[in-house]
Amino acid sequence: MTEPALTGPSAAELGPAAGLAGRFPLTPNPEPASESRHREVMAKLAFGVDFTDHMARATWSEERGWHGHRTEAYGPLTLDPAAAVLHYGQEVFEGLKAYRHADGSVWTFRPGFNASRLRASARRLALPELPDEDFVASLASLVAADERWVPSDAGSSLYLRPFMYASESFLGVRPAKEVEYLLIASPVGPYFPDGFQPVSIWVTDRYSRAALGGLGAAKTGGNYAASLLPQQEAAAKGFAQVCFLDAATSTALEELGGMNVFVVDADGSLRTPAITGTILEGGTRSAILDLLRSSGRTVSEGTILLEDLRAQIASGQVTEVFACGTAAVITPIGRLAGEGWDAVVGDGQPGPVTTGLYQELTDVQYGRRPDTRDWMYQLA
Ligand SMILES: *Cc1c(COP(=O)(O)O)cnc(C)c1O
Repeated sequence: MTEPALTGPSAAELGPAAGLAGRFPLTPNPEPASESRHREVMAKLAFGVDFTDHMARATWSEERGWHGHRTEAYGPLTLDPAAAVLHYGQEVFEGLKAYRHADGSVWTFRPGFNASRLRASARRLALPELPDEDFVASLASLVAADERWVPSDAGSSLYLRPFMYASESFLGVRPAKEVEYLLIASPVGPYFPDGFQPVSIWVTDRYSRAALGGLGAAKTGGNYAASLLPQQEAAAKGFAQVCFLDAATSTALEELGGMNVFVVDADGSLRTPAITGTILEGGTRSAILDLLRSSGRTVSEGTILLEDLRAQIASGQVTEVFACGTAAVITPIGRLAGEGWDAVVGDGQPGPVTTGLYQELTDVQYGRRPDTRDWMYQLA
């Protein structure tokens, strides 16, 4: 069964950021990073290491609903040792980026999609739904407060990490009656500092990420926890990431720990595993499907059997494979391997379809190409 695709409000439907930012009133950090510290961080950007001066947050309780919306100094949280999230993992998160355009303005990509996905993840984890307008208001408020942290170097951005967790201190097993929503931000450098590099992927038939009826369609920490050991074992064999197969039969391709996958055929058509409940529906995946369909390319969502894929790579019918997600946008896959087999895709180098899609998407995100689909939302 294929699930209905996530959509969420478009940029126009959300209305201007200036009108939303006030929903998370700012108490400025009395001790923001000094000019020299700021310069030092911005000069050597890593991923998710350094954070901005502020964070946006709101609290939910059963009695009061969402309240206490605010933007305040970034800093450690106070958490009771009995907080439910520490024991039962009731948590969901999102990931998106703020991009600096050439004219100095700051934009994000399809925030309505992420808002709607956060609500879908929250429903599955029995957490309260944050209204879409509050989600986008938190982005607008934090970016307004921390605009100096949005880098302008090519390929860099401000990574935005919204998340929500069960803060109630109670060891009984039931949905928490107190929940926190937070948004933090980290300036990040280009994902491929040395150019567009293909990666090697280990396809595991030993571990699975998600089973039907489980948490696979939710963006939640538990899925990432499940991927760490397979990831560690694959890294020891020299692979960058793991690709998971369906848990029921271990025969069909699903996705990586945090990225969706696409296969390109020699005739120029593309295929990606269908959203059946075990795969996390990526915003990047959804944008790529839109781009391909409107350019008249054939693209299908369905079952991709590993056995078929291996034969098609060997025969040259499959010419490119790539992964996609917000952090790297598109990652070319040059080699796929598993227990007892090893396959180089094409000539092992990024192919023209993969490279073209990467160029097209990043051009829209960085404002180098017109946004004809109302994807970009101006934050500052
Ligand atoms: C976040 C994530 C993706 C990619 O989603 P994007 O919206 O494109 O960033 C893919 N798979 C999993 C498991 C994820 O958590």
